[in-house]
Amino acid sequence: MAVQSLEPYDDNNIFARILRGEIPARKVYEDEFALAFHDINPQAPTHVLVIPKGRYVSWADFAAGAPDALIAGFIRAVGKTAEALGVVADGYRLLANAGPHSHQEVPHLHVHVFAGRPLGPMLVRHD
Ligand code: AMP
Repeated sequence: MAVQSLEPYDDNNIFARILRGEIPARKVYEDEFALAFHDINPQAPTHVLVIPKGRYVSWADFAAGAPDALIAGFIRAVGKTAEALGVVADGYRLLANAGPHSHQEVPHLHVHVFAGRPLGPMLVRHD
């Protein structure tokens, strides 16, 4: 189910539950700002999600409301995740869905990290 971009944060969304340790995750990287873990339904040989440690639904929500230190820490954590995965040399793709047109499913900001093979065109065309 897609989410509205300005909906209030749902403390029971699946990534909030992963952050609280209520649901297991295969962790790749963690610091005080962010957690990175393998996607449960990988779309590439490497498919990892990086999430900020805070109550943010989307990129707009995060950009408008997160403290500067968390924004910087989250961005750095994405870079450190790519390094931890060993995908920097061969390359990788970052993707963040936000709102209904993107089909964002989980209403906690997350950046997908795809890698492990040539990743093809940026978007599937439907026209
Ligand atoms: P999005 O469509 O951008 O909201 O992506 C949500 C992603 O979360 C999908 O790629 C799902 O496979 C992934 N996902 C859902 N539940 C879990 C979970 N428990 N552990 C890891 N990844 C999950």
